[in-house]
Amino acid sequence: MDPYINVDPGTLNPYEHGECYVTEDGAETDLDLGHYERFLNIPTSQANNVTTGKVYQTVINKERTGDYLGKTVQIIPHITDEIKRRIKFVARKNQFDIVITEIGGTVGDIESLPYIESVRQLKWELGPQNCLVVHLTLVPYLAATGELKTKPTQHSVKILQENGIQADVLILRTEHSLNDALREKVALFCNVDKPSVIESKNVSTIYQVPLLMLDEKLDQVVLRKLNLPPGNEPELKVWKTFVKKLQNPKRKIKIGLVGKYVELHDAYKSISESFVHGGAVNECEVDLQYIHSEGITDQNAKEKLAGLNGILVAPGFGNRGIEGKISAARYARENNIPYLGICLGMQCAVIEFARDVLKLENADSSEMNARTPFPVIDLMEGQKGITEKGGTMRLGAYPCRISKDSFTYDAYQKTDTSERHRHRYEFNNKYLKQFEASGMRAVGINPESGLVEIVEIPGHKWYVGVQFHPEYRSTVVAPHPLFVGFIKASMGE
Ligand code: GLN
Repeated sequence: MDPYINVDPGTLNPYEHGECYVTEDGAETDLDLGHYERFLNIPTSQANNVTTGKVYQTVINKERTGDYLGKTVQIIPHITDEIKRRIKFVARKNQFDIVITEIGGTVGDIESLPYIESVRQLKWELGPQNCLVVHLTLVPYLAATGELKTKPTQHSVKILQENGIQADVLILRTEHSLNDALREKVALFCNVDKPSVIESKNVSTIYQVPLLMLDEKLDQVVLRKLNLPPGNEPELKVWKTFVKKLQNPKRKIKIGLVGKYVELHDAYKSISESFVHGGAVNECEVDLQYIHSEGITDQNAKEKLAGLNGILVAPGFGNRGIEGKISAARYARENNIPYLGICLGMQCAVIEFARDVLKLENADSSEMNARTPFPVIDLMEGQKGITEKGGTMRLGAYPCRISKDSFTYDAYQKTDTSERHRHRYEFNNKYLKQFEASGMRAVGINPESGLVEIVEIPGHKWYVGVQFHPEYRSTVVAPHPLFVGFIKASMGE
């Protein structure tokens, strides 16, 4: 649950909250859902991301259709009912035994209040053994005195109490280990039993966190409080092997991520995590270099992109930095450097090839230049006439058929797949014959619409552009084959 008022983060600039994640069913969501999928290897859906915008939109629409039968519509009970309905809906829809709900923001935020009140009501309705509040707090470290401070924890627990909620479990974010006395103090002052004070210490990779939580016995505390049997030890073999490989790489490569939001690494979170997954299976550390596309030109590409084993051109929208991305695609093609272009990155590879190989002067995407003589990337038919910006792109999973003699097939080892999308523009099929005759092939096609999903340059070391977003489907248990293949090629294998 994200307390901001945007209906979804699809219209947000990535500088605000990082990347916009896309689910199978085409929801544009907070990047946290990406973490959940990467950890759980279970797809999420529209129902898994609630914003204040969505909640109010539903309530106001119901008011307009007269559903409240003349009642005054208020935060309590109407907004809180809608929040609770959405939590319960996830359980009912999937017949889950337990729903884990994360409420974003900080206790004390004005916009979080309706969510906190909803939790209070839920706890009251379901009974204490059916509802558990796990509160995450910060324990700052004062370097000057070498002390860990518990005051912020005490304060936020108190604010929760003022709102009628007693936290059941506390998870303390900390730079240093908590000693016994500190745990005891927090337990006493915050009104929880000592085993419910859980340490969450800084670690080098987020993928260690579940193992730390296991050491802290968070699972057992939660089950005990929900009056559920302790069950068997969790099966974490695959997870542990992954973390071990991640921490003991045998090789190291450097990959350049060329994009225009590079100042904020969260803007490319799913991509950087896909390199973590793909790197671990290859027992290779991927040193991801974030390179600003605005600074790259054909003249300086050699020095800006020096020393890279592979180049990735990132997704994006609008004109800013586009020529730098095109230069990066050209540099990778001309110098036989493994290349992965994602969405706009694929479109840049196409534009570059049109200009330089097909000699179509000023070829462009009509997104960047509406008057280009050669719109090799053009607005999709279904997008014409759309004026509303929110949730109107081509979103979510669509099928793709892959040609057998391709880098992509070698990576996937299958001809049919389905991948997630988020775009308005596409490869203009009017030019397909020209491209194929000159050495850029469409090796992945949507079997229903004929839309070009994947382009490649055969004979190159590894040059792949994809219209979809492979990064949304990469998980710890199932690293994405394209990232695995791209890393292999960049390792020189
Ligand atoms: N701006 C391009 C389009 O809308 C690419 C989108 C993207 O990279 N996600 O088609």
